[in-house]
Amino acid sequence: MPTMSAHDPDCIFCKIIAGQIPSRKVHEDDELYAFHDIAPWAPVHFLIVPKQHIPSMAQLTVEHERLLGRIMVLAPKLAMEQGCNPYPEGGFRIVCNTGTEGGQEVHHLHVHVMGGPRPWARG
Ligand code: ADP
Repeated sequence: MPTMSAHDPDCIFCKIIAGQIPSRKVHEDDELYAFHDIAPWAPVHFLIVPKQHIPSMAQLTVEHERLLGRIMVLAPKLAMEQGCNPYPEGGFRIVCNTGTEGGQEVHHLHVHVMGGPRPWARG
């Protein structure tokens, strides 16, 4: 069962946030970190993660509402900065895989933000 400590020393995204594994940073503040996906599905594809080690959406409580709200407000701002075209002709997709049956491979909550001109590699 995944734990809920602030940082998990075995978690690849905790190591990225700590600078122990390199990443192409898109954004950082006191609570959130965003970086380009290493295997992009779309011309723009980055991940937004909380710095706190929350394994997935399945562990969220009412205490996380503001943090998740911050991710959702940050996503369109960063998407435009990273080259997504403006709404409505442009736009982006948000994906948050949760659990193995939900397609989650890295068990540190992350929101995929994907956009840019089609076709995309997947989707
Ligand atoms: P899936 O691999 O099915 O998308 P997840 O939703 O758990 O599963 O997404 C994990 C994402 O993390 C993948 O898109 C993967 O390419 C990305 N990733 C894994 N390792 C790194 C890394 N070191 N730097 C950037 N992105 C990474």
